[in-house]
Amino acid sequence: MEYKIVVSIALGVLGLVLGSFAGATTWRLRARQLREDARHGEKVSSTEKRQVAKLQPKSLTSDRSVCLHCGHELRWYDLVPLVSWLSLRGKCRYCHKSIGWFEPVIELGLAVFFVISYLFWPSQLLTVGDITQYIIWLAAGVGVAILFAYDMKWFLLPNVVVFPLIGLGVLNAAIVLVEGHFGWTVTLSILSSCAILSGLYYLIYVFSGRQWVGFGDVKLGLALALLLADWQLAILALFLANLIGTIIFLPFLLTGKLQRQTHIPFGPLLISGWAIAGLFGTSLLSWYIALTLSI
Ligand SMILES: [Zn+2]
Repeated sequence: MEYKIVVSIALGVLGLVLGSFAGATTWRLRARQLREDARHGEKVSSTEKRQVAKLQPKSLTSDRSVCLHCGHELRWYDLVPLVSWLSLRGKCRYCHKSIGWFEPVIELGLAVFFVISYLFWPSQLLTVGDITQYIIWLAAGVGVAILFAYDMKWFLLPNVVVFPLIGLGVLNAAIVLVEGHFGWTVTLSILSSCAILSGLYYLIYVFSGRQWVGFGDVKLGLALALLLADWQLAILALFLANLIGTIIFLPFLLTGKLQRQTHIPFGPLLISGWAIAGLFGTSLLSWYIALTLSI
C-alpha cells in the first residue's frame, strides 16, 4: 500500500514536470507554425505576432522560456511546475500581467493522467511487455496533452507531434502482436481498431469535402487506434468521444448558438474517449455485458 502511495507521488511529480514541458512545447510549436504561415503569406493576428516574436523557436527544447507579455527571460524559480504559478498567483514576476490558466491546467492535467493511469492500469504491470506498454501509454500522454491544448486553441494537430505518436502506437501494436503470437484474432483486432478510429474519420473527411474533420483527425485516429490495439476499445473510444461531444455541444445546439460553420475540435474529444477506453474500457465493457445478460 505504502509502495503504491510513493509511486503515485513520484508519477504525479513527473506528470507536473512533463506537463510543464508539454505547455512550453505547445507555445514553441505555435511560434514555428506562425512563422511558416507568415512565410507562406497567410494572415497572422498582431497579438499573436507580438507573443511569438518573444519566443525563439530555434530548437524545440533547448531555448529558454520567456514571458509572453514582457519577453523577460524566466529563471528556474519561475518555472517550477504549479508551485511558481501558485506563488505568483498566476501573474508574471516581472510585468505582473496575468499568465493565464493554460500552464497550470496542462501541468495538473498530465499529473492526474499519470497517477490515474498507474492506479487504474488494466493489467498487473508484472511482465516486461506490460511495463513497456505502460511507459508507451505515459509517453503518449505527453504527446496527446500537447495535441489536446493545440487543437483546443488553434484547431490544428501538428505533424511533429502526431507522427511520433503514431510511432509509439506501432511499438504498442507490435508488443500486442508478439504477446498474441501473431494470431489472427489479435491481428484482426488491431486492423479493425485502425479502421474504426481512423478509417471512419477518413470517410467523413472525404465525403464531407474536408469540411467536418481535418486530415489531422484521421492521423490522430490512427495513432490512438494503434495505442489501444483492440477493436472493442476502439468502438468504445469513438462512442465516448461522440457522447462527450454531444454533452458539451448540445446546450449550444439547442440555444442556436452553434452554427454550421462553428469549428468543433475533434482532437480533444477523441483523446478523452481514448484515455477513458484505454484505462477503464475493459471494466466498462464487462459491466455492460453483465448488464445486458441480466435483463
Ligand atoms: Zn512578463
